[in-house]
Amino acid sequence: MQLEYHPKDEFKYCPFCGQQDSFIFDGKKKFKCSQCARTFYMNAASAVGAIIETPKGILFVRRKFEPKKDMLDLPGGFVDLNENAEEAILRELKEEINFLESGKLDFFITNPNDYVFNNLLYITLDIFFHTYIENTNDLIASDDALSIEYIKPSDINIDEIGFISAKTVIKIFLDKKNIDKS
Ligand SMILES: [Zn+2]
Repeated sequence: MQLEYHPKDEFKYCPFCGQQDSFIFDGKKKFKCSQCARTFYMNAASAVGAIIETPKGILFVRRKFEPKKDMLDLPGGFVDLNENAEEAILRELKEEINFLESGKLDFFITNPNDYVFNNLLYITLDIFFHTYIENTNDLIASDDALSIEYIKPSDINIDEIGFISAKTVIKIFLDKKNIDKS
């Protein structure tokens, strides 16, 4: 977990009683107000991503916006409230790359991530799926994807990938394929 922009440095007042400088983080997962004693647990937000293999290589998107603007990412995004991860990944892939093939994604792995938005750190648990598709003709970058790039596994530069979770997941994926990126 990164400490920059952590909510403990951004939350100046207790949201329950309004007291200043009383809402104290325990260093792990919980805020407690020293004035009114109420507590608030920090939980990881759910997010989804996909490794999409194609004959041209693995599909990456280049990010259009901060955080990690202009860096490579796997397509995906946050899970909405009351949405399941399977629905979320299909919605995000449709929005981001016009991926319309429902029902073809297999669960792959999960990994934690740090996501700083508007100077506030959101800690996520990213849920990754995997699929292979032959036909990429209908895929187009939209929403927060600037472009789609297909990269052969042996040509992937881990340093060009923005987020720690996607870096880790791609390394694990390449390990399974016996492609050394260490
Ligand atoms: Zn309070």
